[in-house]
Amino acid sequence: MKTCYNVNILIKETIKTFFYPNNTKCCVCGKILLKEDNIYCIDCNDKLEWIKDNNRCEKCSKKIYGKGLCSNCKNENYSFKKGYSLWNYGKYSKKIISKIKNEKHKGLCISLGNILYEKTNHLDFLKEVDLILPVPIHKSKLKKRGFNQAYLIAKGFKDNTDKELRDDLIIKTLSRKEQKNLSKTKRKTNLWGAFKIKKKMK
Ligand SMILES: [Zn+2]
Ligand SMILES: [Zn+2]
Repeated sequence: MKTCYNVNILIKETIKTFFYPNNTKCCVCGKILLKEDNIYCIDCNDKLEWIKDNNRCEKCSKKIYGKGLCSNCKNENYSFKKGYSLWNYGKYSKKIISKIKNEKHKGLCISLGNILYEKTNHLDFLKEVDLILPVPIHKSKLKKRGFNQAYLIAKGFKDNTDKELRDDLIIKTLSRKEQKNLSKTKRKTNLWGAFKIKKKMK
């Protein structure tokens, strides 16, 4: 019975790999995905810490209890207008980011862009967006990784809309330390002067 079960799984995996060569395994746990699954299996979908609209900071999107602003946004005047996050940064979302950065999983970036569109297209503030500008990476990092993950996520998002996506307007001219390894105070100054406008829009 067990052998039969294993053979069935093997056949299923082979068929799926043949017909769905990309994203056939859960991007969190590596389990084979069912056709109805997204890029993660049903178990990992439950484990990802999805931020619900009624528990979301109205400005930065951080998970809070109740409505309104988080303590950071109450105390600081950030220059961005609005942010949106799908998940809290935790054990499972970290695995997805690692897959993109360390395993260079480009298809995953496009799928994440699609999910981001699916979850945000009802929001009014997106109607005011004229242009999608992915955060650029330094050319040395582009050479090492082979792609800019922010561009591919933006591309996955853009494929669902008629908004314009441009990655030739801003460049990162200085290579800086990774933000994730820095304190909150250092993160604020780390990127000063690192970006330049390359072209003026016509
Ligand atoms: Zn999974
Ligand atoms: Zn906030």
